[in-house]
Amino acid sequence: MEKKKTIKLYFDRPVDKDVPINMDGGQFGAPRNKGRRPHKGLDFKAYLKPVYASERGIVVYSGTREGSISETNYGETIVIDHTPAIPDDERHIYTLYAHLDKKSAYRGQKVEKGDTVGISGNSGTVAYYKKLNQSFHLHFEVIDSPTEIDWSYGWHSGNRKDPTDYLGGVTTIEYDLGDMVEKSVYSRGHLI
Ligand SMILES: [Zn+2]
Repeated sequence: MEKKKTIKLYFDRPVDKDVPINMDGGQFGAPRNKGRRPHKGLDFKAYLKPVYASERGIVVYSGTREGSISETNYGETIVIDHTPAIPDDERHIYTLYAHLDKKSAYRGQKVEKGDTVGISGNSGTVAYYKKLNQSFHLHFEVIDSPTEIDWSYGWHSGNRKDPTDYLGGVTTIEYDLGDMVEKSVYSRGHLI
């Protein structure tokens, strides 16, 4: 018998309410690199501001992402997995916080929504904003992946979604209970 389980996630903006979104090229999908690729996140005009976990989860990356010539240099970066209990082959949602001045969360740390995970800055490649004298900002991404991502192994640029579709709303994830979970459930003689 197939069993499903549902979780609901409520993503909040990762900076205080008075920190605006950069509407001048900082929106999701805005052209980058002379139009060759679109911006894959949402930028907040945050000059050395606290950065908060958008929803509860587990920090799966806390490091310096140097990138390469063809990739974005994210600088000091935090990634949170908001679906850590879901089986590997099911949908996972992550949030990413880049160009931080300081990180204040470590890999493996459990965080609640609103916990401070860093201070916004201008680490990494912020050439686009240097032109506009706005290099200090928070680059925020939502990665909605059909399977789990191993952030300790390489980097992953797929499945970026428009964060404005997630912030302030409810995201419902339905997934199959894995075989192991199912066995343990039956071994206790009842369904969860
Ligand atoms: Zn950005």
